[in-house]
Amino acid sequence: MGPQGAGKGTQAQMLAERYSMPIVATGDMLREIAQTDTPLGHQVRAVQSAGQLVSDDILAEVVKTRLCKQDCSGGCILDGFPRTLPQARLLERIAQDRGNRIIVIKIDVPRDLLFKRLAGRRTCSACGSIYHMEFKPPAREGVCDLDGQPLFTRSDDNEEAIQQRLTLYDEMTRPLFDYYGGSNRLYKVDGTGKPEEVFNRIAEIVERETNQRSESRTVSED
Ligand code: AMP
Repeated sequence: MGPQGAGKGTQAQMLAERYSMPIVATGDMLREIAQTDTPLGHQVRAVQSAGQLVSDDILAEVVKTRLCKQDCSGGCILDGFPRTLPQARLLERIAQDRGNRIIVIKIDVPRDLLFKRLAGRRTCSACGSIYHMEFKPPAREGVCDLDGQPLFTRSDDNEEAIQQRLTLYDEMTRPLFDYYGGSNRLYKVDGTGKPEEVFNRIAEIVERETNQRSESRTVSED
């Protein structure tokens, strides 16, 4: 978790590769829905472009369907979900039913840096790889290094929508830190520096947590 521009998408990609787990990124899933010529597609497109949050009901449907797929049975990397308390409660129920544990990583980045990161962000239209015009430019301008497909600027990466998204983050998502902090599942990570540096901080937590878990399982199995 973290505000827009904290590096959630980049870190999710690195975690997925290291731990061979699927990424469930609700923003990407909703962007795909937004491209469909359906009433739901039009609704989601308008909400996303304005930097607003899509309703919890729609999220519940999208996330439940995705998490029930076979590839998520051993766990997954959630990116951009949950963002509200009702979503956190829904995730709690799904995790309980499936016997999964929730580890929450909060990526902290100062606000002025968030604006800089978001304003220069470019995304591959095919594989979703994330670039930055200043901090991580592609080898050929406007084209993804991995698959040669065009890069695009997200419709919600303009100043007005960025401001709106950060305000909503403060109002709707910040309360989740008390929710998860209260049950000792929240880990804070410094999100400044190179992506690899941030990744090492996160991987250390994930490894400590998953080792502890297998150790306690071994003890109780003995
Ligand atoms: P993201 O790619 O995570 O920054 O999400 C982009 C946009 O998708 C957000 O600004 C929302 O409009 C919508 N969205 C993504 N995830 C959620 C969520 N968990 N709850 C509500 N809206 C979401």
